[in-house]
Parts: sequence; structure tokens; C-alpha cells
Amino acid sequence: MTTPIANAEHIDSYYVATANDHTRHPALTGRVDADVVVVGGGLTGISAALNLAERGLSVVVLEAGRIGWAASGRNGGQMIAGYACGIDTFASDLPAEDVKRVWDMGLESVAIIRERIAKHGIECDLRDGYLTAANKPRHVTELKAWRDEAAKRFDYHAFEYIEAADMGRFIDSDRYLGGLQDKDSGHLHPLNYNLGLARAAVAAGVRIYEGSCAQSLQQGQTNVVKTDQGEVHAKFVVLACNAFIHTLSPALDRKIMPVGTYVITTEPLPQERFEKLMPAGAAICDSQFALDYFRPTVDKRILWGGKVSYSTMQPTNLSEAMRADMLKTFPQLADVKISHAWGGFVDITMTRAPHFGRLSNTVYFAQGFSGHGVNVTGLAGKLMAEAIAGQAERFDIFTRLKHRDFPGGAMLRTPSLVLAMAWFRLKDLM
Ligand SMILES: Cc1cc2nc3c(=O)[nH]c(=O)nc-3n(C[C@H](O)[C@H](O)[C@H](O)COP(=O)(O)OP(=O)(O)OC[C@H]3O[C@@H](n4cnc5c(N)ncnc54)[C@H](O)[C@@H]3O)c2cc1C
Repeated sequence: MTTPIANAEHIDSYYVATANDHTRHPALTGRVDADVVVVGGGLTGISAALNLAERGLSVVVLEAGRIGWAASGRNGGQMIAGYACGIDTFASDLPAEDVKRVWDMGLESVAIIRERIAKHGIECDLRDGYLTAANKPRHVTELKAWRDEAAKRFDYHAFEYIEAADMGRFIDSDRYLGGLQDKDSGHLHPLNYNLGLARAAVAAGVRIYEGSCAQSLQQGQTNVVKTDQGEVHAKFVVLACNAFIHTLSPALDRKIMPVGTYVITTEPLPQERFEKLMPAGAAICDSQFALDYFRPTVDKRILWGGKVSYSTMQPTNLSEAMRADMLKTFPQLADVKISHAWGGFVDITMTRAPHFGRLSNTVYFAQGFSGHGVNVTGLAGKLMAEAIAGQAERFDIFTRLKHRDFPGGAMLRTPSLVLAMAWFRLKDLM
């Protein structure tokens, strides 16, 4: 069965307009053999492929559209240490020593990006600085408590609480009551990072095929993945399909829910005006359940994300709807034009913890990044490569997390989620 993503070209976005690599990889025809076939050319798939090739395995990547076509090439670019869920989500399934290892790997996940960029000379506008902004008094209390807990429980001291009176260092807006700065985190151009990783993977021997949608997976001693025009025979399979796993594995599909989220960029601003808006140059996420996330770009735009759509329906007049949200924080941008507007799907799990595991001894998967994948995807790729090479200890910490199916089956789970989320949106207003 052909999925709608087959052969899709990159969408019109700021990232595509500023991409610095236009390599086109061929489509797969005929039979090829490899140690590992990776399905999906986003950050998860390409990270896995690169790590596996560095370990001496022969690797083929099948990408239905183009490298970075989906979330990896469309996201907010916020590189935030840690995970989408709170650390206590891990504590409900894991002993304290494993929770500490999960925490450490959350820090390692941003170190991996920095290492990759340095090692492969990837130009992707990496900048330091990230802040979680408080919208309500209860967020102030929660952020301060989290700073204290991280110091006590994990000996983590990179958090600094910024009082309301000092928020001008980060943002020219009176909308926020303070914020928690994380000096380890930052932001980047995700498509150029994904494309740079793909170049590094090819240099390490990975064979990448674009326009090559995996239509079926036949599991056995040798696994066979078929596309319309070819097939890959491989001992191992890595599934890195994010919100598009669909019929390739209905069991995995039931564990995740596609959720739409959207981004706009302004036109470039004059230097003086731009510098005033976000003087520290840090990325910011607010603390609402349906959050706004935004950052400055190197070419002096504001990149604004949010409007989470649990129904997966794109808001009508996307550009204008997003602009209206941005003006709540930056009313001074009322005269500024919007250059691009786009959206994509994140794959959320019931707990918002990432979902890593195996369908068999030789079929691995990583999904469910729940909107926090810029960093965790690199970790997933590294851990899957470790496990395939025989060191599964770190990967298996994650496989012990319990993940439930979304209730309601394929037809009903979206409406049920929309109802549940309506309640959280209400809470944002309270
Ligand atoms: C608008 C938006 C904003 C976001 N902002 C942030 C952010 O600021 N910070 C953050 O940490 N995270 C953010 N995220 C989440 C983050 O982008 C994702 O978690 C991450 O990119 C997931 O990477 P992935 O490789 O697993 O999936 P994807 O990037 O979705 O890649 C999956 C790939 O698999 C391919 N594929 C699927 N099925 C097949 C098949 N059968 N055959 C061949 N290929 C197939 C698809 O074409 C796709 O290219 C955001 C996501 C979106 C959509």
C-alpha cells in the first residue's frame, strides 16, 4: 500500500529556503543487501545509520520523501536537554539508579549534537541559550522547585532562575513572570543539521535512497523490506518512521498519536530592532500545556511555533492565526510581514516518554519523541547502534518503560484525545 508520503518533495518553509545542501539521493531499484536497513531519513534514522556505519556495519537508508522531509526538517530548532515528559514519568517504571542514567543520557543527547557538528563541520546555526518562561504564578513556583530538585537529585547546576525584573535580558515583552534558563541547551537550523548528518553518513559508507517508501517488512532470519521498485535484504532493521509508521507496524502505530504543530518566520528585521526583541539570543518555550516556542534566527527573524492541533487539522489561515499568537508576546511586530508558515506532525505517546524497543531480536524502533526530538533522536540513534553491536544495556533501560496503546483504535483515538486536550487547554486559561 502506498502511503501519502511516498515521493513527497520538501514543503515550502524557511528551512528549505535557507537549506545549504541540495543533494538528491537516488530511488532504490532492484535488490540490495546490507547488515542494517534503516527506514526513515529524519534525525532518528540518519543518526542510527551514521552510528552503525561508524561501527563498521553496512547500512542502507530508505526515505519515502527527502532527507529531513518531516518533523526533523520542520521543527522549532529548540535543542533542549532532557525529554518531553517529566523525570518522574521514568521513576514510575525504573529504579532510581536507572532514572539517574536516563537523566545523564538527556544531557548526553545535547552533547552528541555539539560533537557531531564539530566533528563533521556541519553549518546549522547552532547557538547557545534556552529559557522556559513562566506564564502564571504557579509556573514560577514549579520552575523554582525544579531548579532546586535538579540540583539536589542530579547535582545539576546549569539552571538559573531569572526573576521578572531581569527578563529584559532575554525578551522585550511583559507577558512572562520570570523564567528558568538552562545554559546547556540552545537552538539550531534542524534541516541543515539533518542534511549535514546525512553527508557524514554517506562519507561513512551509508547508502541513502530517497523517494523509496518501505511498503512492507517481511521478518525472518534475513529481514526483507520492499519498496515499489526494489527490496533490501538485511540482518537488522531500524524503524525510524515517527508519525508515519502506519501499516508497516500497526502495533507501533497504536502507541503513538500524530499531533499537528505549526511555525512561522517573520521577514528579516533591521539589526537594532532585532537585537532588542531577544537580546540574549536564547530560544524560549513558555509553560502552557499548548505551548508557544520561539527563537531568533541568524538572519534576524523571529521564528515562532505553537498552535498545537490535537485534531491534526491545520488552522485555517495559518499564517494569520500564528501571527496573532506572536503579537500577544511581541505586539511591537504588528507591522512586520510573515515570510513562511508551515506545519508538521509530532508523535506523542500516552506518557510523553520516548518509545524505544524491538519487534523481534533483529527489528529495532525508536519513536514517540512527543515534540522533544531534536536532541533525543541523536541519542536514540546512538543507543540503537550500541544495541545492534551487542551492547544493549543503555537501550534496554528505555525498553523497560511501559507504553500503553491509545484508546479508541485508529478511528476513535483522535476524537478522544481532542476531548482530553480540551481540558488541558482550559487549564492553560485558569
Ligand atoms: C513543527 C514542529 C516543531 C517541533 N519543534 C521541536 C523543537 O523545537 N524541539 C524539539 O526537540 N523537537 C521538536 N519537534 C519534534 C522533532 O522534530 C521530532 O521529534 C523529530 O524530528 C523526530 O525525528 P524522526 O527522525 O523520528 O522523525 P521524522 O523527522 O518525522 O522522520 C521520519 C521520516 O521517516 C520517513 N518515513 C516514514 N515512513 C516511511 C516508510 N514507510 N518508508 C520510508 N520512509 C518513511 C518520513 O518520510 C520521514 O522523513 C517539532 C516537530 C514539529 C513537527
